[in-house]
Amino acid sequence: MVDVATNLSNIQENIRQACANANRSPEDIRLIAVTKYVTIERTKEAINAGIDNLGENRNEGFLEKYNEIQNQVNWHFIGSLQSRKVKDIINQVDFIHSLDRKSLAKEINKRATHPVNCFVQVNVSGEESKHGIFPDEVISFIKSLSGYENIKIVGLMTMAPHVEDPEDVRSVFKKLRDLRDEITKKELPHAPCEWLSMGMSNDYHIAIEEGATHVRIGSKLVG
Ligand SMILES: *Cc1c(COP(=O)(O)O)cnc(C)c1O
Repeated sequence: MVDVATNLSNIQENIRQACANANRSPEDIRLIAVTKYVTIERTKEAINAGIDNLGENRNEGFLEKYNEIQNQVNWHFIGSLQSRKVKDIINQVDFIHSLDRKSLAKEINKRATHPVNCFVQVNVSGEESKHGIFPDEVISFIKSLSGYENIKIVGLMTMAPHVEDPEDVRSVFKKLRDLRDEITKKELPHAPCEWLSMGMSNDYHIAIEEGATHVRIGSKLVG
């Protein structure tokens, strides 16, 4: 396996290049290492290489690593979250990337002891298999959360369909950005909604050119 430091420096170079293409600053990009496939040892290697944001998609994987690593890093929960499991993780994670329904928002609001930073997951491409709210329902969904004092909508998240040529999903990223811009303009107190969590191993360079602020990279970074 290639060491994480080498992968990281390649990815950082690609991030710099994508930022240059789009006239953006690399400082505006948060790199989240998705460690769902790897061991705690490999995760620690990533931290030693300079990673300070980790992403997990299942409660079990998250808790196993959180129990060792604690708050050395920012924790991102990126997978679909069952309402009945919210209480097990909600006060340990720093960001939830997968808020996609009212019942989940209700449970988070009830169980959290402080406002939680949430990304609303959007199903931009309309694929049946994908989680997330359809684009034309996102604004009313976000507005409906205004009374939930423990929910803060910090941005939108999407997973692009898997394609051979990532250029084919550029329009998905662009749509998410347009939607974000529309929401930001409304200046909703509970939903600053400034950020875009989009881009994975195969398409992060395109996502950054289209405005991603948080990229979630697993296989190309930690293996
Ligand atoms: C697994 C996963 C990733 C990382 O995928 P890679 O293609 O390995 O980079 C990103 N986001 C979510 C939601 C995931 O489940």
